[in-house]
Amino acid sequence: MNNHPVRVRYAPSPTGYPHVGNIRTALFNWLYARHTGGSFIVRIEDTDQARSIEGALQNILESLNWLGLDWDEGPEVGGSYGPYLQSQRLDLYHGAVQELVGQGRAYHCYCTPEELDRMRKEQQKQGLPPRYDRRCRDTERARAKAESSVVRFATPLEGPPVTTHDLIRGEVTVELSVMDDFVILKSDGFPTYHLANVVDDHEMRISHVMRAEEWLPSTPRHILLYDALGYQPPTFAHMPMILGPDRAKLSKRHGAASLLEFRDLGYLPDAMVNFLVLLGWSLDDKTEVFSREDLIRHFTLERVGKSPAIFNMEKLEWMNGVYIRGMSTEELAEHLGQTLQVYIAQHKPPGTIDLDQGYLMRIAPLLHERFKKLSPEEVWGLTSFFLVEDLEYAVPLTPKGLDKDGALSALQAVVQELHPIEQFNVAVLESTLRSLAERLGLQTGPLFGAVRLAVTGTAAAPPHFDTLAVLGKDRVMKRLNNAVSILENS
Ligand code: GLU
Ligand code: ZN
Repeated sequence: MNNHPVRVRYAPSPTGYPHVGNIRTALFNWLYARHTGGSFIVRIEDTDQARSIEGALQNILESLNWLGLDWDEGPEVGGSYGPYLQSQRLDLYHGAVQELVGQGRAYHCYCTPEELDRMRKEQQKQGLPPRYDRRCRDTERARAKAESSVVRFATPLEGPPVTTHDLIRGEVTVELSVMDDFVILKSDGFPTYHLANVVDDHEMRISHVMRAEEWLPSTPRHILLYDALGYQPPTFAHMPMILGPDRAKLSKRHGAASLLEFRDLGYLPDAMVNFLVLLGWSLDDKTEVFSREDLIRHFTLERVGKSPAIFNMEKLEWMNGVYIRGMSTEELAEHLGQTLQVYIAQHKPPGTIDLDQGYLMRIAPLLHERFKKLSPEEVWGLTSFFLVEDLEYAVPLTPKGLDKDGALSALQAVVQELHPIEQFNVAVLESTLRSLAERLGLQTGPLFGAVRLAVTGTAAAPPHFDTLAVLGKDRVMKRLNNAVSILENS
């Protein structure tokens, strides 16, 4: 339809923090731009001053950054078609309004809210659909200049129906008779979404408008505006809806919070991207895990479906696990370091040791398989015994198979045995402790269990000898001695 270079945009309104459905639109646009070698543009639609919220713009950009969706034009990076905040482009919209009014394709409406209200009530009484009755359209109503007005688009009263050619939905046709004279300029001088969106998509040379299905009903209005302004409309592609597992509209109840909340819960950006892309796109109905490069290579609009996508938390959990297990030790260690910093800054646990990357690199492989999320809480929970100087025991120091005296004498023997060891490594530790068990006539289970409790404070710790080796002799001996004296005094 369009031989111009691909230019697509993500056009959020700063009226809230982007949630899953909203950011999926950004992802699809980004992938399409990267797939085609086109440009991905971020435009902030901040024309609804009353509904704009503090911090939303920051949150939008941070969400994009977190997912690694870089933009070629937009806030912070600029570009040749800026500014990229609609509130800074009012002149352009006023120009378009003037042109439309001059040609009789739009008109001032001086109706007060009370008047409109009365009109609506009257229509209701008569069983008519509520809509503006065009009372200001033809009559030049005498009004004092000071009175405020809005500008309405003069929807043609006759003519062929408006047809949207949507790459995903096919042809969508609407009769003119059901369309009203919608507002294009508000009384505060700001354009409505419809006008600003059309003017900017034109001015910014947008080739494809890819957005959520909820905007499909607005598209006929946009097409009329394109036509009235003499613009060539872009190609439209409306993304399928996202529903919860109960097939109701996605909401907080389904766990679909703002995107950055997922970050804070420990989901990885790559897992999130992979999860999001499957909400409406598929390659072959069976492949689920894609690298970013694969997604860029394969992403086309032909493979975007019509039917609603189902948001499934369990699938996200699973996907996150796939990506955690796919991390290299280095990546994991780095991630652990960052996450732990967050935890420590927030909770200030006493007696934490310095987070050293080399040390984290040794811890990471021992726990790699156990992480489900990499939230600060989970990471701290699994690693804290590596990271505090002194352990606080929350469980009794008696492992399965040993009573208090048994545990005490076992640990005393271990202390003696380990004391002279200089090579505190896995092989030496393993052979030393195994032969000790034999000498004491103990099963390895209870003996190692007693050591594990004393050294980690938990019965479910990562591989035993590796843990001892990583903790190092000083810390291990200190903890064993401490456990011995606790047992002696209890
Ligand atoms: N500002 C609209 C939104 O918040 C943009 C819709 C569109 O892409 O046209 O979703
Ligand atoms: Zn009016």
